[in-house]
Amino acid sequence: MSLPVIAIVGRPNVGKSHLFNRIVGEASAIVSEEAGTTRDRHFGQADWAGHHFWLVDTGGLVEDSNEPMDVAIRKQVMQAIDEADLLMLVVDAKVGVHPSDARLVDILRLAKKPWVLVANKVDDPNSADFYDFYRLGVTDVYPVSAANGKGSGDLLDAVVAAIPETDEVPSEAVRIAVIGRPNVGKSSFVNKLLGEERLVVNDESGTTRDSIDAPMRYHDQDIIFVDTAGLRRQSKIDDGIEFYSALRSRRAIDSSDVCILMVDATEGLQNQDLKIATLAWEAGRGLIMVINKWDLYADKTDKSSAKFRKDAVEKVPYLGFVPFLFTSALTGQRVNKVLDMALEVQEQRTRRISTSQVNDALQEIIAKLQPPQAAGREVKLNYATQVETSPPTFAFFGNHPELIPENYIRYIHNQLREKWGFTGSPMRIIMRSKR
Ligand code: GDP
Repeated sequence: MSLPVIAIVGRPNVGKSHLFNRIVGEASAIVSEEAGTTRDRHFGQADWAGHHFWLVDTGGLVEDSNEPMDVAIRKQVMQAIDEADLLMLVVDAKVGVHPSDARLVDILRLAKKPWVLVANKVDDPNSADFYDFYRLGVTDVYPVSAANGKGSGDLLDAVVAAIPETDEVPSEAVRIAVIGRPNVGKSSFVNKLLGEERLVVNDESGTTRDSIDAPMRYHDQDIIFVDTAGLRRQSKIDDGIEFYSALRSRRAIDSSDVCILMVDATEGLQNQDLKIATLAWEAGRGLIMVINKWDLYADKTDKSSAKFRKDAVEKVPYLGFVPFLFTSALTGQRVNKVLDMALEVQEQRTRRISTSQVNDALQEIIAKLQPPQAAGREVKLNYATQVETSPPTFAFFGNHPELIPENYIRYIHNQLREKWGFTGSPMRIIMRSKR
Protein backbone atom coordinates (compact mmCIF):
# COMPACT_ATOMS: atom_id res chain seq x y z
CA MET A 1 0.00 0.00 0.00
CA SER A 2 1.05 3.60 -0.32
CA LEU A 3 3.67 4.47 2.27
CA PRO A 4 3.42 7.62 4.39
CA VAL A 5 5.57 10.57 3.40
CA ILE A 6 7.67 12.52 5.89
CA ALA A 7 9.09 15.79 4.60
CA ILE A 8 12.04 17.69 6.01
CA VAL A 9 11.57 21.46 5.72
CA GLY A 10 13.35 24.55 6.98
CA ARG A 11 15.61 27.45 6.07
CA PRO A 12 18.72 26.83 3.97
CA ASN A 13 21.85 25.69 5.84
CA VAL A 14 20.10 24.32 8.90
CA GLY A 15 21.32 20.86 7.86
CA LYS A 16 18.30 19.33 6.12
CA SER A 17 20.28 17.21 3.69
CA HIS A 18 22.60 16.01 6.43
CA LEU A 19 19.64 15.03 8.53
CA PHE A 20 18.07 13.29 5.53
CA ASN A 21 21.22 11.27 4.96
CA ARG A 22 21.56 10.51 8.64
CA ILE A 23 18.01 9.19 8.90
CA VAL A 24 18.04 7.09 5.76
CA GLY A 25 21.42 5.85 6.94
CA GLU A 26 20.24 4.85 10.40
CA ALA A 27 16.72 3.76 9.72
CA SER A 28 17.88 0.66 7.83
CA ALA A 29 17.31 2.49 4.65
CA ILE A 30 16.48 1.01 1.35
CA VAL A 31 17.53 4.16 -0.43
CA SER A 32 16.12 4.23 -3.87
CA GLU A 33 18.41 6.18 -6.07
CA GLU A 34 16.52 8.82 -7.92
CA ALA A 35 18.64 10.33 -10.65
CA GLY A 36 21.64 8.43 -9.36
CA THR A 37 23.83 10.90 -7.52
CA THR A 38 23.70 11.68 -3.83
CA ARG A 39 23.46 15.36 -4.54
CA ASP A 40 20.25 14.91 -6.50
CA ARG A 41 18.74 12.45 -4.14
CA HIS A 42 15.67 14.02 -2.64
CA PHE A 43 13.72 11.08 -1.35
CA GLY A 44 14.34 7.59 -0.11
CA GLN A 45 12.55 4.82 1.71
CA ALA A 46 13.39 4.11 5.29
CA ASP A 47 12.19 1.76 7.98
CA TRP A 48 12.22 2.49 11.68
CA ALA A 49 10.88 0.05 14.26
CA GLY A 50 8.78 -1.65 11.63
CA HIS A 51 7.36 1.57 10.24
CA HIS A 52 8.07 2.00 6.59
CA PHE A 53 8.00 5.48 5.11
CA TRP A 54 9.28 7.81 2.42
CA LEU A 55 11.59 10.52 3.63
CA VAL A 56 11.72 13.67 1.54
CA ASP A 57 14.44 16.32 1.61
CA THR A 58 12.92 19.53 0.30
CA GLY A 59 16.25 21.37 0.52
CA GLY A 60 16.99 21.51 -3.17
CA LEU A 61 13.70 23.25 -3.85
CA VAL A 62 14.76 26.45 -2.13
CA GLU A 63 18.46 26.49 -2.77
CA ASP A 64 17.87 26.38 -6.54
CA SER A 65 15.22 29.08 -6.60
CA ASN A 66 15.56 32.63 -7.91
CA GLU A 67 12.87 34.02 -5.67
CA PRO A 68 13.44 36.06 -2.51
CA MET A 69 14.44 33.60 0.18
CA ASP A 70 11.37 34.02 2.37
CA VAL A 71 8.96 33.52 -0.52
CA ALA A 72 10.84 30.45 -1.65
CA ILE A 73 10.89 28.82 1.77
CA ARG A 74 7.24 29.56 2.28
CA LYS A 75 6.43 27.87 -1.00
CA GLN A 76 8.63 24.93 -0.15
CA VAL A 77 6.72 24.40 3.09
CA MET A 78 3.28 24.90 1.54
CA GLN A 79 4.11 22.29 -1.05
CA ALA A 80 5.43 19.87 1.52
CA ILE A 81 2.26 20.34 3.56
CA ASP A 82 0.29 19.38 0.47
CA GLU A 83 2.35 16.32 -0.26
CA ALA A 84 3.45 14.91 3.07
CA ASP A 85 1.73 13.12 5.93
CA LEU A 86 4.08 14.56 8.54
CA LEU A 87 6.64 17.38 8.52
CA MET A 88 9.91 17.90 10.32
CA LEU A 89 10.74 21.56 10.71
CA VAL A 90 14.50 21.77 11.12
CA VAL A 91 16.06 24.77 12.88
CA ASP A 92 19.66 25.61 13.69
CA ALA A 93 20.53 25.46 17.40
CA LYS A 94 23.77 27.33 16.81
CA VAL A 95 21.84 30.29 15.38
CA GLY A 96 18.84 30.22 17.71
CA VAL A 97 15.37 31.36 16.76
CA HIS A 98 15.45 33.04 13.36
CA PRO A 99 12.48 35.20 12.28
CA SER A 100 11.84 32.81 9.35
CA ASP A 101 11.57 29.89 11.78
CA ALA A 102 8.79 31.68 13.64
CA ARG A 103 6.89 32.32 10.40
CA LEU A 104 7.21 28.68 9.41
CA VAL A 105 5.85 27.58 12.75
CA ASP A 106 2.82 29.81 12.13
CA ILE A 107 2.23 28.21 8.75
CA LEU A 108 2.53 24.71 10.18
CA ARG A 109 0.11 25.48 13.00
CA LEU A 110 -2.55 26.45 10.49
CA ALA A 111 -1.95 23.41 8.31
CA LYS A 112 -3.50 20.78 10.57
CA LYS A 113 -0.85 18.25 9.64
CA PRO A 114 1.29 16.57 12.26
CA TRP A 115 4.74 18.12 12.54
CA VAL A 116 7.74 18.16 14.86
CA LEU A 117 10.37 20.77 15.60
CA VAL A 118 13.92 19.48 15.22
CA ALA A 119 16.84 21.52 16.56
CA ASN A 120 19.88 20.45 14.59
CA LYS A 121 23.58 20.98 15.34
CA VAL A 122 23.23 20.04 19.01
CA ASP A 123 26.49 18.14 18.77
CA ASP A 124 27.01 18.08 22.52
CA PRO A 125 24.00 16.47 24.24
CA ASN A 126 24.65 18.57 27.37
CA SER A 127 24.30 21.81 25.50
CA ALA A 128 21.31 23.95 26.37
CA ASP A 129 21.33 25.83 23.06
CA PHE A 130 18.09 24.39 21.88
CA TYR A 131 15.98 25.61 24.86
CA ASP A 132 15.63 28.89 23.03
CA PHE A 133 13.18 27.24 20.62
CA TYR A 134 10.58 26.67 23.31
CA ARG A 135 9.94 30.39 22.82
CA LEU A 136 8.11 29.33 19.67
CA GLY A 137 5.42 27.84 21.86
CA VAL A 138 5.93 24.23 20.94
CA THR A 139 5.55 21.39 23.46
CA ASP A 140 8.55 19.42 22.23
CA VAL A 141 11.87 20.31 20.69
CA TYR A 142 13.92 17.36 19.49
CA PRO A 143 17.64 18.10 19.72
CA VAL A 144 19.74 16.20 17.18
CA SER A 145 23.14 16.26 15.62
CA ALA A 146 22.98 15.29 11.99
CA ALA A 147 26.76 15.39 12.08
CA ASN A 148 27.26 12.71 14.74
CA GLY A 149 23.82 11.11 14.88
CA LYS A 150 22.96 12.04 18.48
CA GLY A 151 19.25 12.31 19.17
CA SER A 152 18.09 10.89 15.87
CA GLY A 153 16.78 7.69 17.46
CA ASP A 154 14.51 9.61 19.85
CA LEU A 155 13.38 11.80 16.98
CA LEU A 156 12.47 8.79 14.84
CA ASP A 157 10.59 7.16 17.71
CA ALA A 158 8.50 10.30 18.09
CA VAL A 159 7.95 10.66 14.38
CA VAL A 160 6.76 7.14 13.65
CA ALA A 161 4.45 7.36 16.65
CA ALA A 162 2.89 10.48 15.13
CA ILE A 163 2.34 9.17 11.60
CA PRO A 164 -1.38 8.95 11.04
CA GLU A 165 -2.68 5.41 10.70
CA THR A 166 -3.81 4.35 7.28
CA ASP A 167 -7.30 2.99 7.01
CA GLU A 168 -6.59 1.00 3.91
CA VAL A 169 -7.70 -2.62 3.96
CA PRO A 170 -6.30 -5.22 1.62
CA SER A 171 -8.82 -6.28 -0.95
CA GLU A 172 -9.23 -8.30 -4.08
CA ALA A 173 -9.55 -5.15 -6.10
CA VAL A 174 -7.30 -4.46 -9.05
CA ARG A 175 -5.31 -1.36 -8.22
CA ILE A 176 -4.65 0.93 -11.13
CA ALA A 177 -2.27 3.89 -11.13
CA VAL A 178 -2.34 6.57 -13.79
CA ILE A 179 1.20 7.86 -14.09
CA GLY A 180 3.14 10.17 -16.38
CA ARG A 181 4.64 13.62 -16.69
CA PRO A 182 2.63 16.70 -15.68
CA ASN A 183 0.05 17.98 -18.17
CA VAL A 184 -0.24 14.89 -20.31
CA GLY A 185 -3.90 14.63 -19.28
CA LYS A 186 -3.90 12.24 -16.34
CA SER A 187 -6.51 14.04 -14.26
CA SER A 188 -8.70 14.72 -17.27
CA PHE A 189 -8.53 11.04 -18.12
CA VAL A 190 -9.42 9.82 -14.63
CA ASN A 191 -12.19 12.41 -14.42
CA LYS A 192 -13.63 11.15 -17.66
CA LEU A 193 -13.53 7.57 -16.43
CA LEU A 194 -14.98 8.19 -13.01
CA GLY A 195 -17.43 10.95 -13.86
CA GLU A 196 -16.54 14.57 -13.81
CA GLU A 197 -16.57 15.76 -10.20
CA ARG A 198 -14.70 12.93 -8.63
CA LEU A 199 -11.33 14.63 -8.40
CA VAL A 200 -12.76 17.88 -7.16
CA VAL A 201 -12.98 16.38 -3.73
CA ASN A 202 -13.38 18.62 -0.74
CA ASP A 203 -10.21 19.48 1.04
CA GLU A 204 -10.95 18.61 4.64
CA SER A 205 -7.57 16.89 4.89
CA GLY A 206 -7.20 17.30 8.65
CA THR A 207 -4.83 14.76 10.09
CA THR A 208 -5.96 11.74 8.09
CA ARG A 209 -4.01 10.50 5.14
CA ASP A 210 -5.22 12.15 2.00
CA SER A 211 -3.91 9.79 -0.61
CA ILE A 212 -7.35 9.28 -2.02
CA ASP A 213 -8.08 5.99 -3.67
CA ALA A 214 -11.11 6.11 -5.95
CA PRO A 215 -13.00 2.82 -6.13
CA MET A 216 -15.29 1.68 -8.91
CA ARG A 217 -16.91 -1.55 -10.02
CA TYR A 218 -16.65 -2.87 -13.54
CA HIS A 219 -17.79 -6.26 -14.89
CA ASP A 220 -18.13 -7.60 -11.35
CA GLN A 221 -14.61 -6.60 -10.57
CA ASP A 222 -13.60 -4.00 -7.98
CA ILE A 223 -11.14 -1.51 -9.36
CA ILE A 224 -9.31 1.13 -7.38
CA PHE A 225 -7.62 4.11 -8.94
CA VAL A 226 -4.80 4.77 -6.52
CA ASP A 227 -3.70 8.16 -5.25
CA THR A 228 -6.01 10.30 -7.30
CA ALA A 229 -5.31 12.96 -4.67
CA GLY A 230 -1.85 13.17 -6.16
CA LEU A 231 -3.39 14.05 -9.50
CA ARG A 232 -5.51 16.76 -7.99
CA ARG A 233 -2.71 18.18 -5.90
CA GLN A 234 -0.23 18.78 -8.63
CA SER A 235 -2.10 21.60 -10.30
CA LYS A 236 -2.21 23.79 -7.19
CA ILE A 237 1.37 24.93 -7.04
CA ASP A 238 3.44 24.56 -10.14
CA ASP A 239 6.93 24.87 -8.69
CA GLY A 240 9.15 21.91 -8.01
CA ILE A 241 6.71 19.81 -9.94
CA GLU A 242 9.33 17.44 -11.32
CA PHE A 243 10.48 16.70 -7.81
CA TYR A 244 7.10 15.83 -6.40
CA SER A 245 5.82 14.19 -9.54
CA ALA A 246 8.74 11.77 -9.35
CA LEU A 247 7.85 10.96 -5.76
CA ARG A 248 4.19 10.60 -6.68
CA SER A 249 5.02 8.23 -9.52
CA ARG A 250 7.04 6.07 -7.16
CA ARG A 251 4.28 5.91 -4.59
CA ALA A 252 1.61 5.19 -7.15
CA ILE A 253 3.68 2.47 -8.80
CA ASP A 254 4.42 0.85 -5.45
CA SER A 255 0.78 0.65 -4.51
CA SER A 256 -0.66 -0.56 -7.80
CA ASP A 257 -1.04 -3.73 -9.85
CA VAL A 258 -1.37 -2.11 -13.23
CA CYS A 259 0.10 1.22 -14.32
CA ILE A 260 -1.33 3.34 -17.07
CA LEU A 261 1.55 5.36 -18.43
CA MET A 262 0.11 8.40 -20.10
CA VAL A 263 1.93 10.21 -22.88
CA ASP A 264 1.08 13.46 -24.67
CA ALA A 265 0.74 12.47 -28.36
CA THR A 266 1.59 15.96 -29.53
CA GLU A 267 4.94 15.87 -27.72
CA GLY A 268 5.84 12.36 -28.78
CA LEU A 269 7.47 9.84 -26.51
CA GLN A 270 9.96 11.67 -24.27
CA ASN A 271 12.83 10.21 -22.27
CA GLN A 272 11.06 11.14 -19.05
CA ASP A 273 8.00 9.13 -20.17
CA LEU A 274 10.19 6.12 -20.77
CA LYS A 275 11.94 6.54 -17.43
CA ILE A 276 8.63 6.37 -15.60
CA ALA A 277 7.43 3.43 -17.73
CA THR A 278 10.63 1.56 -16.97
CA LEU A 279 10.24 2.17 -13.22
CA ALA A 280 6.83 0.50 -13.39
CA TRP A 281 8.04 -2.34 -15.59
CA GLU A 282 11.04 -3.09 -13.39
CA ALA A 283 8.84 -2.98 -10.31
CA GLY A 284 6.87 -5.86 -11.84
CA ARG A 285 3.71 -3.88 -12.48
CA GLY A 286 1.40 -4.42 -15.44
CA LEU A 287 1.78 -1.65 -18.00
CA ILE A 288 -0.48 -0.01 -20.55
CA MET A 289 0.73 2.83 -22.74
CA VAL A 290 -1.97 5.42 -23.25
CA ILE A 291 -1.16 7.95 -25.94
CA ASN A 292 -3.47 10.82 -25.04
CA LYS A 293 -4.50 14.04 -26.81
CA TRP A 294 -4.83 11.93 -29.94
CA ASP A 295 -7.45 14.47 -31.11
CA LEU A 296 -4.61 16.98 -31.50
CA TYR A 297 -2.20 14.67 -33.30
CA ALA A 298 -1.24 16.34 -36.57
CA ASP A 299 -1.62 14.76 -40.03
CA LYS A 300 -3.32 11.64 -38.75
CA THR A 301 -3.86 8.76 -41.13
CA ASP A 302 -5.06 5.24 -40.45
CA LYS A 303 -1.42 4.26 -40.10
CA SER A 304 -0.42 6.89 -37.51
CA SER A 305 -1.08 4.83 -34.41
CA ALA A 306 0.76 1.79 -35.77
CA LYS A 307 3.69 4.01 -36.69
CA PHE A 308 3.73 5.67 -33.27
CA ARG A 309 3.83 2.26 -31.64
CA LYS A 310 6.50 0.94 -33.98
CA ASP A 311 8.78 3.91 -33.27
CA ALA A 312 8.33 3.40 -29.55
CA VAL A 313 9.18 -0.30 -29.72
CA GLU A 314 12.27 0.48 -31.75
CA LYS A 315 13.44 2.77 -28.97
CA VAL A 316 12.51 0.44 -26.13
CA PRO A 317 12.08 -3.21 -27.07
CA TYR A 318 10.03 -4.29 -24.04
CA LEU A 319 7.24 -1.99 -25.23
CA GLY A 320 6.66 -4.68 -27.86
CA PHE A 321 4.98 -6.66 -25.06
CA VAL A 322 2.84 -3.74 -23.91
CA PRO A 323 -0.59 -2.74 -25.24
CA PHE A 324 -1.06 0.78 -26.60
CA LEU A 325 -4.24 2.80 -26.53
CA PHE A 326 -4.75 6.09 -28.39
CA THR A 327 -7.19 8.31 -26.55
CA SER A 328 -8.63 11.75 -26.11
CA ALA A 329 -9.47 12.60 -22.53
CA LEU A 330 -11.14 15.69 -23.96
CA THR A 331 -13.67 13.98 -26.24
CA GLY A 332 -13.63 10.70 -24.36
CA GLN A 333 -12.55 8.74 -27.41
CA ARG A 334 -11.50 5.20 -26.41
CA VAL A 335 -11.08 6.23 -22.77
CA ASN A 336 -13.41 3.47 -21.58
CA LYS A 337 -11.40 0.78 -23.30
CA VAL A 338 -8.68 1.14 -20.72
CA LEU A 339 -10.69 -0.77 -18.12
CA ASP A 340 -10.96 -3.94 -20.21
CA MET A 341 -7.32 -3.61 -21.03
CA ALA A 342 -6.28 -3.19 -17.41
CA LEU A 343 -8.28 -6.24 -16.33
CA GLU A 344 -6.77 -8.28 -19.13
CA VAL A 345 -3.26 -7.18 -18.23
CA GLN A 346 -3.85 -8.06 -14.59
CA GLU A 347 -5.08 -11.51 -15.64
CA GLN A 348 -1.92 -12.02 -17.66
CA ARG A 349 0.21 -10.82 -14.81
CA THR A 350 -1.34 -13.26 -12.33
CA ARG A 351 -1.51 -16.21 -14.70
CA ARG A 352 -0.08 -19.55 -13.60
CA ILE A 353 1.25 -22.11 -16.07
CA SER A 354 1.41 -25.73 -14.91
CA THR A 355 4.83 -27.27 -14.44
CA SER A 356 4.16 -29.91 -17.09
CA GLN A 357 3.35 -27.19 -19.63
CA VAL A 358 6.50 -25.30 -18.71
CA ASN A 359 8.58 -28.44 -19.14
CA ASP A 360 6.97 -29.19 -22.49
CA ALA A 361 7.90 -25.68 -23.52
CA LEU A 362 11.45 -26.22 -22.32
CA GLN A 363 11.80 -29.35 -24.45
CA GLU A 364 10.53 -27.50 -27.53
CA ILE A 365 12.85 -24.58 -26.85
CA ILE A 366 15.90 -26.82 -26.51
CA ALA A 367 14.93 -28.88 -29.56
CA LYS A 368 14.90 -25.71 -31.65
CA LEU A 369 18.13 -24.35 -30.24
CA GLN A 370 20.51 -25.95 -27.73
CA PRO A 371 22.09 -23.74 -25.08
CA PRO A 372 25.59 -22.82 -26.29
CA GLN A 373 28.16 -25.30 -25.02
CA ALA A 374 31.23 -24.26 -23.06
CA ALA A 375 34.66 -25.63 -23.88
CA GLY A 376 35.06 -29.08 -22.38
CA ARG A 377 31.78 -29.00 -20.47
CA GLU A 378 28.30 -30.04 -21.42
CA VAL A 379 25.77 -27.32 -20.55
CA LYS A 380 22.30 -28.68 -20.00
CA LEU A 381 18.93 -27.33 -18.92
CA ASN A 382 17.00 -30.12 -17.22
CA TYR A 383 13.67 -28.77 -16.07
CA ALA A 384 11.72 -25.61 -15.43
CA THR A 385 8.79 -24.37 -13.40
CA GLN A 386 6.88 -21.16 -12.70
CA VAL A 387 7.95 -20.04 -9.24
CA GLU A 388 5.91 -16.85 -8.95
CA THR A 389 3.12 -14.75 -10.39
CA SER A 390 2.73 -10.95 -10.38
CA PRO A 391 4.82 -10.94 -12.47
CA PRO A 392 5.19 -14.45 -13.89
CA THR A 393 8.64 -15.74 -12.97
CA PHE A 394 10.16 -18.94 -14.32
CA ALA A 395 13.08 -20.84 -12.88
CA PHE A 396 15.17 -22.97 -15.22
CA PHE A 397 17.35 -25.62 -13.62
CA GLY A 398 20.54 -26.91 -15.18
CA ASN A 399 24.00 -28.22 -14.44
CA HIS A 400 25.77 -24.91 -15.19
CA PRO A 401 23.28 -22.06 -14.81
CA GLU A 402 26.12 -19.54 -14.70
CA LEU A 403 27.20 -20.55 -18.21
CA ILE A 404 23.86 -19.77 -19.87
CA PRO A 405 24.53 -16.54 -21.75
CA GLU A 406 22.31 -13.49 -21.73
CA ASN A 407 21.27 -13.93 -25.36
CA TYR A 408 20.07 -17.48 -24.74
CA ILE A 409 17.97 -16.26 -21.80
CA ARG A 410 16.52 -13.64 -24.13
CA TYR A 411 15.76 -16.39 -26.63
CA ILE A 412 13.88 -18.34 -23.94
CA HIS A 413 12.07 -15.17 -22.93
CA ASN A 414 10.87 -14.57 -26.48
CA GLN A 415 9.82 -18.19 -26.90
CA LEU A 416 7.73 -18.09 -23.72
CA ARG A 417 6.19 -14.79 -24.80
CA GLU A 418 5.28 -16.30 -28.14
CA LYS A 419 3.64 -19.20 -26.40
CA TRP A 420 1.83 -17.47 -23.57
CA GLY A 421 1.86 -13.77 -24.31
CA PHE A 422 1.68 -12.24 -20.85
CA THR A 423 0.77 -9.09 -22.71
CA GLY A 424 1.30 -5.99 -20.62
CA SER A 425 3.08 -7.88 -17.87
CA PRO A 426 6.78 -8.12 -17.15
CA MET A 427 8.08 -11.67 -17.12
CA ARG A 428 11.20 -12.92 -15.39
CA ILE A 429 13.51 -15.83 -15.97
CA ILE A 430 16.01 -17.08 -13.46
CA MET A 431 18.67 -19.74 -13.94
CA ARG A 432 19.30 -22.11 -11.06
CA SER A 433 21.49 -25.00 -10.21
CA LYS A 434 19.92 -28.43 -10.55
CA ARG A 435 18.98 -29.69 -7.11
P1 GDP B 1 -2.21 16.05 -15.82
O1 GDP B 1 -1.25 17.03 -15.30
O2 GDP B 1 -1.49 14.90 -16.50
O3 GDP B 1 -3.22 15.57 -14.85
O4 GDP B 1 -2.97 16.79 -17.04
P2 GDP B 1 -4.42 17.51 -17.04
O5 GDP B 1 -5.49 16.48 -17.00
O6 GDP B 1 -4.43 18.56 -16.01
O7 GDP B 1 -4.42 18.12 -18.51
C1 GDP B 1 -3.51 19.09 -18.92
C2 GDP B 1 -4.14 19.94 -20.02
O8 GDP B 1 -4.34 19.18 -21.22
C3 GDP B 1 -5.51 20.48 -19.64
O9 GDP B 1 -5.61 21.78 -20.16
C4 GDP B 1 -6.49 19.53 -20.35
O10 GDP B 1 -7.71 20.15 -20.67
C5 GDP B 1 -5.71 19.17 -21.60
N1 GDP B 1 -6.03 17.83 -22.11
C6 GDP B 1 -6.00 16.67 -21.40
N2 GDP B 1 -6.29 15.62 -22.20
C7 GDP B 1 -6.53 16.12 -23.43
C8 GDP B 1 -6.89 15.51 -24.70
O11 GDP B 1 -7.04 14.29 -24.86
N3 GDP B 1 -7.03 16.36 -25.77
C9 GDP B 1 -6.86 17.69 -25.64
N4 GDP B 1 -7.02 18.43 -26.74
N5 GDP B 1 -6.53 18.31 -24.49
C10 GDP B 1 -6.37 17.51 -23.39
